Amino acid sequence: MAQIYDSIIIGAGPCGMRIALELKKKNASFLLLDPGTPGGKVNVAPRVDNYPGFTKIPGPDLAFALFERLNQAEIEITPEEVLELKKENDHFAIKTDRDTYYSKTAVIASGTKDRKLGLENEDKLFGHGLTYCALCDGHFFKDQDVIVIGGGNAALKEAIHMLHVSKKVYLIHRRNEFRGSNKLVDELKEAPNAEILTPYIPYRLIGEEKVEGIEIENRETGERRIIKLQGIIPAVGQIPNTQFVQIEGVLNEYKTVPVNRSMETSCPGLFAGGDVLPRDIRQIYLAEHDGIVISKSILTLLGKE
Ligand code: NAP
Repeated sequence: MAQIYDSIIIGAGPCGMRIALELKKKNASFLLLDPGTPGGKVNVAPRVDNYPGFTKIPGPDLAFALFERLNQAEIEITPEEVLELKKENDHFAIKTDRDTYYSKTAVIASGTKDRKLGLENEDKLFGHGLTYCALCDGHFFKDQDVIVIGGGNAALKEAIHMLHVSKKVYLIHRRNEFRGSNKLVDELKEAPNAEILTPYIPYRLIGEEKVEGIEIENRETGERRIIKLQGIIPAVGQIPNTQFVQIEGVLNEYKTVPVNRSMETSCPGLFAGGDVLPRDIRQIYLAEHDGIVISKSILTLLGKE
């Protein structure tokens, strides 16, 4: 008979890491599954503002600090990708790219992935001037011209990061009002090498082997304009990583995971936290908060609190 863990945590971002730390303290048996770099999206955040204790900190530095806590607690991450999450009798069955594991409780803390623009040649130009991560690839655009697309905090922060790398940074957004913070918009407006264009959408990506420019369209006037540049950085939101969930009623129409006050989903024993939840504000400290509530709920359920 295969081992039945007390819990299996899917995703080693701030939420999953926090749960692992709390479960370890109470000697619960668990697996922390994540095929990527520990820390999740924190790793690719150019800058994190207002994380308790820091005014500003680069994402990778914070991710490393969070990961260090796991090291100190001697917690290992199992580097496997989850393909299926099912309920079999009283247990959860979690199939990965290498094995199948069983547990009494489970947690979806798998975060989100970047939404694409959906334009022709987007996949072909990815890695050839088009990137979804300014922090990872921004240095390729040193002293060149780039465009960031989107009006949320991610787009604003990616654009601000590129101000110090590129010669000129365009930011286009499809509405005149920004979803992201006014403070960041002002920071960008004041920069001599930034140009904000609204209400514009990307219409065509230009270049076959590599990015050579972009054609944008004004949503009010229909005017189209070609800008020659070397870098395109779409930052148009996130899609939840929940495609592996095969338990009916757990996901909502947006493929995010609704939970109750104990962070439990509609399926008893299955919890969710962090960016996979349906909420407007997605922050690192909120994911950690979710992790604390989830670990308490799990330990109570297991009779280990
Ligand atoms: P977001 O807030 O959902 O913003 C996505 C932006 O992309 C919106 O402005 C949206 O326009 C635009 N957009 C969506 N589809 C588009 C398309 N097909 N073409 C052109 N534009 C499109 O996503 P996010 O910026 O990735 O942020 C996600 C969450 O993380 C947010 O809650 C955000 O506050 C948070 N975050 C926080 C920080 C921080 O340091 N505090 C940093 C990054 C992100 P509309 O506005 O018209 O919908």
